[in-house]
Amino acid sequence: MKCNKAIKELSAYLDGELDAELRQTLEAHLTYCNHCHAVYDTTKKTIELYCDGKLFSLPEDVRARLHDALRRKLQECK
Ligand SMILES: [Zn+2]
Repeated sequence: MKCNKAIKELSAYLDGELDAELRQTLEAHLTYCNHCHAVYDTTKKTIELYCDGKLFSLPEDVRARLHDALRRKLQECK
């Protein structure tokens, strides 16, 4: 899996929407690619908020905007 592809699938992965095969490929990529792992880590922290030990996800529209912004940035620095 190439980085471009990994980043593209990242938001679906974080939303739990990837099928098993794609998920495994992406997880494998994240274990050896520091760049994508950093993006994964940052994105995950950004979309998940903890409050009193409970996990809250951002509203759908905020997540969508975040994903879009992320994708645009990553396309710029290709
Ligand atoms: Zn990568």
